[in-house]
Amino acid sequence: MSKKTKTTGICYLVGAGPGDPGLMTLRGKECIEMADVLIYDYLANHEFLKWAKEGTEMIYAGKKASDHAIPQGGINELLVEKVKEGKIVTRLKGGDPLVFGRGGEEAEELVDAGVPFELVPGISSAIAGPAYAGIPVTHRDHCSQLTIFTGHEDPTKEESSMDYAQIAKAPGTKVMLMGVGRLRLVMDELLKNGADPKMPVALVRWATRGNQESIEGTMKTIADIVEKADFKSPAVCVIGDVVKCRKKINWFENRPLFGKRVVVTRTRTQASGMSKQLRDLGADVLEIPTIRIAKPEGDELIEFGKLVQDCHKYEWLIFTSPNGVDAFFDLFYKLYDDARSIGGARIAAVGPGTKAKLAEYRVATDLMPEKHVAEELAKEIKKQIGDLNSLQMLWVRGEDARPVLSEMLVKEGAILDEAIAYVTVPETDDPTGNVKRFREEGADIVTFTSGSTVECFLDLGLDIPEITKIASIGPVTTEAIEENQLIVDIEAEDSTIPGLVKAVLKLAGK
Ligand code: SAH
Repeated sequence: MSKKTKTTGICYLVGAGPGDPGLMTLRGKECIEMADVLIYDYLANHEFLKWAKEGTEMIYAGKKASDHAIPQGGINELLVEKVKEGKIVTRLKGGDPLVFGRGGEEAEELVDAGVPFELVPGISSAIAGPAYAGIPVTHRDHCSQLTIFTGHEDPTKEESSMDYAQIAKAPGTKVMLMGVGRLRLVMDELLKNGADPKMPVALVRWATRGNQESIEGTMKTIADIVEKADFKSPAVCVIGDVVKCRKKINWFENRPLFGKRVVVTRTRTQASGMSKQLRDLGADVLEIPTIRIAKPEGDELIEFGKLVQDCHKYEWLIFTSPNGVDAFFDLFYKLYDDARSIGGARIAAVGPGTKAKLAEYRVATDLMPEKHVAEELAKEIKKQIGDLNSLQMLWVRGEDARPVLSEMLVKEGAILDEAIAYVTVPETDDPTGNVKRFREEGADIVTFTSGSTVECFLDLGLDIPEITKIASIGPVTTEAIEENQLIVDIEAEDSTIPGLVKAVLKLAGK
């Protein structure tokens, strides 16, 4: 790379889609990962901010249409200024940047300033919103035309540029964005201009997210229905016969955990697997990582290095968490460039998560207990090996692992070394704003996957109201929860993430 291209900034105008993390484009995700400066607004799902690299400058550009944190002119200036400093600036916008997103204006401004940019389209809420409410915007049995318009303009305003007569007469589906505030005025105007009062209408709020809500009526009734339900923006409004399809194909809202807000307290790097499983079941997932995995420091780190270096001396290597596996192999492959340096040790894992992590490093597991807790692992080792006397074993563990495994193995005569592979520290960052959201809106179910997630959750000063249910991954976590005077509503039968997800389903009555 030449010196010049290294210091040349660029602005990516990126459509963040309507909110479901799966609906961000691959290019959009790349642009977030590359960003030095990330400018985002109210409608771009804040979950995406966690993809940014450490040290990225985050700038919140606006709340709602009526309440800009930074006025549009200021945003344009900011984009130009940052790019001219040589920064990679990613401007995230809800949906598609060019569909009522002012992306066109920002692009013009960048051209005028002679600043390089790229447009990254996104999935517009105008299409995805209806889709997630079971409404296809076109359908051969119903229509072959689609009109997308804004409800932001006041139809009673004389200088209104909207031609409601034409919209009313247009055949096919009509999708209105920014229309909740003026719904009654717009419906009246369309009806005045000859629209069919019986035409079905649906509104979808926070479409594609876990907290999606939808409501239905006709052109004549919808304004009253929305008012009565106190149904608020942001919502997409769909008008047309296609709304009838919803009865049959309302796939998203029929998922078993739809409407349930579930808190995941695992570390930021580990949460995504569990969150995905819950989201696939329709839950509104709130990731509140309470802990972070860090490297041991000082003497502990030196000690860990020595033990990893000597790992070939052991007859058994015991792993009790995926974090331990990662930390071990990270260091192992820094020390050795030949996988055979691990020697002939056999491998024990506490449960399927640890086993799967080992498999990622192409290491097979020789021994795993049926129940995935340390006591059972020790029993299984005893059962399968028999005489442990003088057996050389290395246990790769976290700093705060319970001593029960070592006590049981040492009692049986094993020569056990313990490698502290990682430490657990409280997570204090809240880039997604989820801690705030939990404080304000609460949740239906909070899940805990270890004793430290419980402690650190409470250390954040977060109360768990009585109506919120608590799900625990297993007996050890349950104990930690109960020690904190909280009641466990369900404990996973199988102490694994899929086991915990099953327990959540049960709590939700599914
Ligand atoms: N560029 C955006 C639209 C911005 S205008 C897009 O392509 O989706 C803002 C309006 O978009 C809101 O008033 C609402 O009507 C709609 N909108 C955006 N995201 C939405 C979502 N997740 N759910 C419902 N409506 C949404």
